[in-house]
Amino acid sequence: LYDRHGAEDTGAPYYSFEFFPPKTEQGLTNLYDRIERMGRAGPGFVAVTWGAGGATAQRTVELCGACQGVFGLDTLMHVTCTNMDRAMVDAALAGAKTAGVRNLLALRGDAPRGDEYWAARDGGFRHAIDLVKYIRASYGDYFCIGVAGYPEGHSESADQDQDLEYLREKVEAGADFVVSQLVYDVDVFVAWRRRCRERGITVPIVAGVLPVQSYQSFCRLVHLTGVGVPDDFRRSLDAVRANDQAVKDLGVRHAVDLIRRLHGAGVWAVHLTTLNLETTVMRVLGELGQGPTKPSTGAAAGTAGPGGAVA
Ligand code: FAD
Repeated sequence: LYDRHGAEDTGAPYYSFEFFPPKTEQGLTNLYDRIERMGRAGPGFVAVTWGAGGATAQRTVELCGACQGVFGLDTLMHVTCTNMDRAMVDAALAGAKTAGVRNLLALRGDAPRGDEYWAARDGGFRHAIDLVKYIRASYGDYFCIGVAGYPEGHSESADQDQDLEYLREKVEAGADFVVSQLVYDVDVFVAWRRRCRERGITVPIVAGVLPVQSYQSFCRLVHLTGVGVPDDFRRSLDAVRANDQAVKDLGVRHAVDLIRRLHGAGVWAVHLTTLNLETTVMRVLGELGQGPTKPSTGAAAGTAGPGGAVA
């Protein structure tokens, strides 16, 4: 997806889309239709999330296989090592390779549901760096590897400087690029990115952006991730919270403004969390002059359903 020498600094907008594997067959069919349409906007890549502990393993691999093999989109598979023993990690990596996926986002993951704190499973991996090392040791350069970075520091880390050092170590261990936690404050992101560069983290750093689609989902995600939201945006959102369409409109305006400011600061690679929805993200891209340019391939119609061969 990226070379290790700053491909995100080229001065050309670069967008990617993130999806999660739906729980139902109908949800998957609907998502395939959306991915087919959204793929016409020419995203740099699409990413598929991984349920902590491997909860979505099969569906994640299947969706990745469809994105890569059916829709021809460069695909990034998230994989966590929380609550996963070595055999599960091996199965995940082998699944990615069989699905034709060449890109992995190597993550630790969060505590399994019901556990307040995260703890390493016996014989498992403690931190994302262990997964990066394991992938490199097992597959050499076969996979392009991304890791997560936190402009405001990771929620469990009291020391932002130490957090940055751990990020540097993940890159030194073999990560090719960094995807950031969601950005709502451009100044915070830009300052963190500068500190990354000063510390010798030279690989591309992609800004994570979630255009607000509904007040409830936004509040839930902010709570889950602990990201800071600037007061003025929070106040504007609170003022329209009862009006779904006004929330969406504000979400689009805010995301467009945020991305323009990122571009102004020389940050060209933006990773858009879609929540599996199409309209808001496509409106954002349209306003940025990056709407669909390719004709339909009709690929979605032939996409295999759950359990089917997708490669
Ligand atoms: P790590 O890099 O291991 O860091 C976790 C904590 O340990 C931090 O506090 C860090 O400071 C500390 N640390 C790191 N290295 C060391 C070390 N060597 N020694 C001691 N301490 C260390 N979760 C999912 O379940 N599925 C997903 O698909 C998913 N996608 C994500 C995508 C992005 C872009 C981001 C930002 C997060 C995503 N997450 C996902 C959430 C992620 O799993 C959690 O934030 C998790 O708590 C940390 O993962 P990590 O890979 O950053 O962990």
